[in-house]
Amino acid sequence: TGGLMRGKRGLVMGVANDHSIAWGIARALAAEGAELAFTYQGEALGRRVKPLAQSLGSDLVVACDVEKLETVDAALEAVQARFGTIDFVVHGIAYSDKNELKGRYADTTRENFVRTMVISAFSFTEIARRVAPLMTPGGAMLTLTFGGATRVTPNYNVMGVAKAALEASVRYLAADYGAIGLRVNAISAGPVRTLAGAGITDARFMYNYHRAHAPLRRPVTIEDVGGSALYLLSHLSNGVTGEIHFVDGGYNTVGMPRSENLKS
Ligand code: NAD
Repeated sequence: TGGLMRGKRGLVMGVANDHSIAWGIARALAAEGAELAFTYQGEALGRRVKPLAQSLGSDLVVACDVEKLETVDAALEAVQARFGTIDFVVHGIAYSDKNELKGRYADTTRENFVRTMVISAFSFTEIARRVAPLMTPGGAMLTLTFGGATRVTPNYNVMGVAKAALEASVRYLAADYGAIGLRVNAISAGPVRTLAGAGITDARFMYNYHRAHAPLRRPVTIEDVGGSALYLLSHLSNGVTGEIHFVDGGYNTVGMPRSENLKS
């Protein structure tokens, strides 16, 4: 462990358990000396997140459901009360009704479209607006997206549309907050077996398909994402903002499967 993040403090949102991508990022940050605060959604998850946070030396673990704005405000007030200013925020939050993560995108309901957008896309903007005043120049924000934002992925459906909005938000927020020296980026991760990932119909096929076709020929791990997050949240990426950085084993670069993948 080094000291790349020594003296830096930040907020990690979206840990549900030790398979969460946000957890992989938190571990990478803590290993480099960062001091962390966590949010969790609901008390059931809180009971899991608290011991995880503790294992990284953090006892600042606060409830936050992005559908309830007062909990977002309360969480950030708690973080400000303890840390004063913060250096980074990690947003690993997404939700859609799993009944609509199958079949046709065309059948998405208005209610779930709005809910998916608010939780999975708009929450990042709302959090950025609240976090920016707590940051000093050099501060960095990071969210998580998926290739289904730009290329049709069966069953990903409305979540793909929300991720497209999230990716566009990253660019607009980068432009807004660049004026005060803050950076805003996203990691586009390949499929990882998590709670949220399991909500997608045929998730196992998606996972295996990526593994078979990605240049690295293996699934992406939360440690892989953690390593790249460390770069995007540290001074090593001081010149990088508005970027969608792929951590997908190279899957997004492939135009055609290798012939051996077509033999069964
Ligand atoms: P996860 O289930 O571990 O994390 C999702 C988190 O979102 C959970 O902690 C959950 O509590 C939180 N959340 C959902 N609704 C919320 C709300 N209303 N308020 C506050 N928090 C809420 O799954 P994950 O795969 O680690 O997901 C993290 C992020 O990574 C998501 O944005 C997801 O879309 C993205 N992502 C996942 C994959 C994958 O294959 N798993 C790939 C690329 C991107």
